Amino acid sequence: MDNITHILKKNSFTHAEIVQLLSSEKEARSLLFAASAETKEKYVGNVVYFRGLIEFSNICSKNCYYCGIRSGNKKTNRYNLTDKEILDAAKFAYENNYGSVVLQGGEIEGEAFTLRIEKLLHGIKELSDGRLGVTLSVGEQSFDVYKRWFNAGAHRYLLRIESSNKELYYKIHPNDSTHSFERRMTALRNLREAGYQVGTGVMIGLPFQTLDHLADDLIFMKEMDIDMCGMGPYIEHADTPLWDFRDGLLPLEERFNLALKMIAILRIMMKNINIASATALQAIDPIGREKALKIGANIIMPNITPGMYRDEYKLYENKPCTDEEAADCKNCLEARIHMSGNKIGYNEWGDSAHFKERN
Ligand code: SAM
Ligand code: SF4
Repeated sequence: MDNITHILKKNSFTHAEIVQLLSSEKEARSLLFAASAETKEKYVGNVVYFRGLIEFSNICSKNCYYCGIRSGNKKTNRYNLTDKEILDAAKFAYENNYGSVVLQGGEIEGEAFTLRIEKLLHGIKELSDGRLGVTLSVGEQSFDVYKRWFNAGAHRYLLRIESSNKELYYKIHPNDSTHSFERRMTALRNLREAGYQVGTGVMIGLPFQTLDHLADDLIFMKEMDIDMCGMGPYIEHADTPLWDFRDGLLPLEERFNLALKMIAILRIMMKNINIASATALQAIDPIGREKALKIGANIIMPNITPGMYRDEYKLYENKPCTDEEAADCKNCLEARIHMSGNKIGYNEWGDSAHFKERN
């Protein structure tokens, strides 16, 4: 306990100290959560920003070993929202004062896809008088494509590194040119260069992953000087290659606790970045996202994908809210966020204070 108190008084942590914090249980863990909650309140306040999440397509050219919508999963029914459906979802977000949307989908490259996103960005800006902020999350693209989308109005981009350890990265991805670790690193640097607020993150509780890997992931995020983070527990999916390793996984509850500790430690390490409360937390604990908001996260991504498609964006088992329509999610979220001691920053972009400070 004394040791944890001593570590928490410091301004930066060594690898060994992060591992100690990740191992903390009971009172020691409560001390960590109290320190991260205090840091959050002091540096970003108790305001939570909404990003209306539009999972616009589950068609993907990649074959990540953990993901239910990987190209190799022939059991998935593929869908692609029409432009109108996407713009209607964005309109819903705008009319409900969400402030921002996230366009997320499988990774596709090529001029047709680039142009489509570009047009959608113009459409979203038009329907909201330029007021709706847009985050993109459509994987690795060239610098030119990132720049085109930035110029069309996207200003934040989420690209998880998934694991910053190259060896582990290739245990959870095919080792080929389509899944190159180096290309992902280059993509993260290009995003920064193109002008975006850059978000990355990892999955927590992956097969073969150790606390040392997770400590290195946090150090990686600090060294990359990221503006935003989205990280959450890994949840197995039966139609993926990693399913074979499910017996070696931590129990779900431990993965959940580890994810909360990762968020808390990152909040203390990078005080004014935006940290999202991942949907996967809610798949394990019905009030999982609210717990994360309490101890350090400040962003939530209500799903506003039309209900009939949600079942097909199954990255993992037990994905929450797949049978709801957008408005249901909004109502239940509002009460839950207030319960977590936070208020909602309606109609605000809620940009990363860290990004603003650097620029
Ligand atoms: N295709 C884009 C990409 O990979 O960046 C965006 C969509 S992808 C589905 C979004 C995130 O889902 C990934 O970064 C990954 O971390 C997460 N994900 C995929 N499968 C998962 C699983 N089984 N458990 C938890 N998260 C998962
Ligand atoms: Fe495609 Fe993203 Fe899933 Fe990988 S994680 S298979 S890139 S949707």
